[in-house]
This record gives sequence, C-alpha cells and structure tokens, in this order.
Amino acid sequence: MKILVLNCGSSSLKYQLVDMQTEIALAKGLVERIGIENSRIVHQKGESEKITTTTDIPNHQVAVQLAIDALLHADYGVISDIKEIGAVGHRVVHGGENFAQAVIVDEEVKKAIAECSSLAPLHNPANLVGIEACEKILNVKQVVVFDTAFHQTMPEKAFMYALPYGLYDKYKIRRYGFHGTSHKFVSAQAAALLGKPISELKLISCHLGNGASVCAINAGKCVDTSMGLTPLEGLIMGTRSGDMDPAAVTFVMEKEKLSPSSMDDLMNKTSGVLGISGVSSDFRDLEEAANDGNERAKLALDMYAYRVAKYIGAYTAAMNGVDAIIFTAGVGENDAGTRKAICSYLGYLGVSIDDDKNKKRGIEIIISNDDAKTKVCVIPTNEELTISRETLELVK
Ligand code: ADP
Repeated sequence: MKILVLNCGSSSLKYQLVDMQTEIALAKGLVERIGIENSRIVHQKGESEKITTTTDIPNHQVAVQLAIDALLHADYGVISDIKEIGAVGHRVVHGGENFAQAVIVDEEVKKAIAECSSLAPLHNPANLVGIEACEKILNVKQVVVFDTAFHQTMPEKAFMYALPYGLYDKYKIRRYGFHGTSHKFVSAQAAALLGKPISELKLISCHLGNGASVCAINAGKCVDTSMGLTPLEGLIMGTRSGDMDPAAVTFVMEKEKLSPSSMDDLMNKTSGVLGISGVSSDFRDLEEAANDGNERAKLALDMYAYRVAKYIGAYTAAMNGVDAIIFTAGVGENDAGTRKAICSYLGYLGVSIDDDKNKKRGIEIIISNDDAKTKVCVIPTNEELTISRETLELVK
C-alpha cells in the first residue's frame, strides 16, 4: 500500500507518499504561502531535483489537490492513478487528553480535534482543514497521529502545574508535551541500536530542531517532557524563550504595554537563540558568528547547551538513572559542536564522547566511547515514516 502523509500548517502543507512495502518515500513536497500571494509548491520525486511551481493557492483544498496532481504528473509523478493512494495519515499537533494513540478519522474525532483548537490555535484548525480537504478529494480512510499522544503516559505529578486546581478542571491547563512521534520513533530505534529491549532501558531523548524538547522515557513510556501546555516551555529554541520566571511575562507586558498576543509573538518568534544573539535562529549562522568573535552568538550557544544539560540532569533524577541519551532533529543530528558542549556537562553520568564518531552524519550511531557508562546515540528522526506505519496499522 502507498500512504500519503500530510502535515498541514496554517499556511503550508508538507506531503510525502510512502511505499509501505519498502518504507521508502517515493516523493515529497511542500506547499507554501497558502492563501497568501506568491504561493508555490516545491515537489521532489525520490532524490531527483526539486521542481518549484508558483501558482495561486487560495486554500488547503487547492493545496491538497496540487500535491496529488504533482504525485500523478507524467514527468515527475510517482503514481498513475489516484486509487494507488491507499490511505492518508495526518500529523495533528494537539490531541489534548482525548488521544493516547493514533485513530481513524470519523465525525467524533474531528469534533475532538476542533475542541482542542483553543490549546493549539495555529495548528489544529489547519489540521482539520487538511482532513476535510482530503475527504472531498480522496475516497480512502484517514488516520490522525497526534504530537501529544506519546506523552499521555506521564504521571499526574509530572503533568500538573501548581496553579489553582480549578484551572485544570475548567480549562485542562497542564503539561501535554509535543514531538511525541519523534521521541517515540528515536527511542525505539535507539533500543534496537543498543541491542536491548526498550522495556529494560531508561532513555533521555533530545529533539533539537527549530522547536526543541527533551523527553524522559522509562521502559518505552514517556514519564516527563519539557514542552508544556504549548510548545513554548522548556529548552531555549530557535526563536522561543523556553523556561523563565512567569512573572517576567507580566512585567514585560506592563513595561512595554504589550497585549497578550504581542507578548505571545515576542516569546515565540523573537526570543530564543535569535533573541539572545541578534544574529539568527539557525545554528550554522550562530557558530559562524561565534567563531568570528560575536560574544552574543557565543552566549546563545552556551545558554542553549547549558539548558539541555540541566534537563538531562533533571530527567536522570526523575528516572533514578539513565542508560542512554539520544540526539535527533536538525541541530541534534547535524551539530557536533552543540552535542559536544551538552555532553561536556555530563561527565558525572559517565558520558564520554568519541570525537571521530561525533563528526559522522546522516546515520544512526553510538557516539560515546565503548567503555562509557551512559551511552550517547544520534538517531535521525523520521516522523513521516512513523505516521505512515501507524496509519497502515489502523487501516489494514
Ligand atoms: P523543524 O523544527 O523546523 O523541523 P529541523 O529539525 O529541520 O527543524 O531543524 C532545523 C534547524 O537545524 C536549523 O534551524 C539549524 O539550526 C539546524 N541545522 C540544520 N543543519 C545544521 C548543521 N549542518 N549544523 C548545525 N545546525 C544545523
């Protein structure tokens, strides 16, 4: 079966067609600027060159149709009939407390996703629009895979905030966690790489991309994670602040006369390593600037590694030990310097890194020295593959 994996953002749509026999992505693409001028679709068949088409894309239904047209295209398409698409798997950001695993889409599920919209106002409505667009175009089963689902095993003591309990009752204010599909995938891959059943492992997974989160995984189950009610909490990220004194929020709002939504923008879009450095949210730019002597770029990198190391320490305490630390996503997979900086705090855990192995890229690898007490692995994440596997599981 071939499964179409979709990730609908508010103005973008990422797609991938996965052949489930080989688990290879036959084609993938990105539709950008939906509903905005200069919208375009970038499509790639296998590893061949990317094709960019600029065209009017007023809404998500047109975007889904364009993605399917690209998959069917005589030159750069990969299927000859729409019926070859056996099912659709959607990445949905917020499942609230309703979903601890992937489910087949029906009216009830759509209602529940809509109900979670207040918790993810930018993402869940877009996800729903994508689902409804597919309903109109494709006559196949659809599955939703939630970013929050893997974290539903967290105990109450980890997911509750120490606010008046009534706020939890009233609004379900609590820690949910995100990147669940990635943390689940890389922890399973790491267990296989370490040659141990996941049921016998205490793992700390660091998903360090534009957004970043750490997850404590004991015997294959999430016991704590750094993102919270929204993806703002926890680590310092590309443009997000992560943890700080909540009183700083009201202080800044008062002093700068900011509305809640302006403050939200400040914390989500102009903070993080970008806000500290004033240079960029991209670690390649930060490293270049730091090497050229830019002190604030260096400070941003130092703060970043220090925060990740503190979380690893906290989660080691939460699990009373750790067998392996996993790095994944854009920074985690590619940035040897950041990995090394983080691990430099972890000698007390018996972490030591082999510099040659740490420089390797694009493969699953154990980068700690052979005799290191706590192992360190780099595992390239593959959220689309996980979504396609979970979709197949439910529809077959
Ligand atoms: P997203 O959260 O958007 O999926 P990614 O996981 O793709 O993000 O991570 C993107 C980030 O990864 C970039 O902003 C950049 O900081 C970092 N990155 C990518 N390649 C490299 C590299 N070669 N060296 C250092 N950092 C990198």
